[in-house]
Amino acid sequence: MSDQSTETYRHYIGGEWTDGDGTETFESTNPATGDVLGEFRRGTESDIDAALAEADDAEEEWRELSHIDRAEYLWDIYHELRERTDELAEVVTKECGKEISEGRADVIEAYHMVEWAAADARHPKGDVVPSEIPAKDAYMRRKPRGVIGCITPWNFPVAIPFWHMAVALVEGNTVVWKPAEQTPWCGQIIAEMFEDAGIPDGVFNMVQGFGDAGASIVEDERVDTVLFTGSAEVGHEVAEKVAQQPGKLAACEMGGKNNIVVTEEADLDIAVHSALMSSFKTTGQRCVSSERLVVHEDVYDEFKERFVELAQSVSVGNPLEEDTFMGPLIEAGHKEKVTKYNQLAKDEDVNVLVDRTELDDDEIPEGHEEGHWVGPFVYEAEAWDDLRCTHEEVFGPHVALLKYSGDIEEGVAIQNDTDYGLAGAIISENYRQINYFRDNAEVGLAYGNLPCIGAEVHLPFGGVKKSGNGYPSAREIIEAVTERTAWTLNN
Ligand code: NAP
Repeated sequence: MSDQSTETYRHYIGGEWTDGDGTETFESTNPATGDVLGEFRRGTESDIDAALAEADDAEEEWRELSHIDRAEYLWDIYHELRERTDELAEVVTKECGKEISEGRADVIEAYHMVEWAAADARHPKGDVVPSEIPAKDAYMRRKPRGVIGCITPWNFPVAIPFWHMAVALVEGNTVVWKPAEQTPWCGQIIAEMFEDAGIPDGVFNMVQGFGDAGASIVEDERVDTVLFTGSAEVGHEVAEKVAQQPGKLAACEMGGKNNIVVTEEADLDIAVHSALMSSFKTTGQRCVSSERLVVHEDVYDEFKERFVELAQSVSVGNPLEEDTFMGPLIEAGHKEKVTKYNQLAKDEDVNVLVDRTELDDDEIPEGHEEGHWVGPFVYEAEAWDDLRCTHEEVFGPHVALLKYSGDIEEGVAIQNDTDYGLAGAIISENYRQINYFRDNAEVGLAYGNLPCIGAEVHLPFGGVKKSGNGYPSAREIIEAVTERTAWTLNN
């Protein structure tokens, strides 16, 4: 499809493009301009039902293929993602507003994941283990779980669907996927890639729509695993519903309230750069974005002065331009949410250092007046334990500076004083401090002397505590899409 196409885009079910049962449609809009990008069918419960029936039917033949044969379809997609990286990056940027370099990174991460899963087909999983009895052979074998329901967020509209689907498909499962309502164009292109790769009918199905379509995936008993990435609010509801369905599994990757701990032995150039990138890049709309900077008192004043200066000077811009630092927020409702949290912080009596909630007209790029723009909001708080603004995920450029004194133990205690446990970083030149953080920070993703962002597909990507339920994405998703059998054979 191209921009402002007049076609109404459809679901991909059982190898066919279909309008489905619903009569409603919805639009994808560019968050930087307000332009309508395309119109899409809105899926209903009965469309999910049809997609699951196809996935169920296709499962037996698909699981009988070898890993290597299944991976062939993924290799085609890998090459297409690579060849079309720039074109797809532009679609990502137009649809979700992230800066073009980030749009490109989204697509690159997707093909890294596809490459990893397809190459891993040459390494079928299982173990030969010594039996207690000499005449017996014992094996652990992995089998596909069956039908996998994938529900993905808007902020990585190409990478995260492949984090879910690449390993699931190579391992022999079939898939029903609902993209986020904000990024259906990315969903359309990914479905076209599966069609072009000639994947057997019913193995991959895509139903566009809203949360209610996702809810049908969660409730239907034909789904063996739900792979969910999104907010903690929705993820906990998904996990709770799935827990009431015996035999079904939910892998939920959710949000965070992520910290960077800057110790008295930090290189402040690294600290300030890491904070800038982690708090403001993608306008704070990453699950790993840092909303709390925990800074030792010995370096607090200098760090604060430098960080505040940057927060005052960073600019928003047309996300399609290579040198733009910050794009818009995803939608008007999200701008309202970020604005409310900034106001909440003021109501909670924090000391506001930078408030660029409403930007001046001349700060907004020309021709982009309808975009959902916001600038940084930075504050410091002393008695912050009971504040909502320092504990709830805002998902925007909303940052608290929290001062600590004493040893690294105190900095890490603040880092851990949140219900979330997704990501955290330490900036320090002292290996004892770094090792203490590594061993004691309650996070699934820990970064040392780096921004608190970034993923590598061969590492687990997931959180602990309220941020995840123990099934990280990327490589480790294999635990949620396969089941293990202990097989013993008497010789
Ligand atoms: P979201 O509102 O939770 O939506 C995520 C997905 O769930 C969307 O496809 C959504 O559909 C669907 N959904 C909504 N209600 C549902 C329900 N009742 N049952 C089943 N599915 C439902 O999250 P988002 O705004 O797209 O993404 C931002 C959030 O994702 C942030 O909290 C961020 O931290 C988190 N995130 C986490 C990770 C990670 O790996 N840990 C990565 C990226 C983002 P609709 O869009 O149609 O409503």
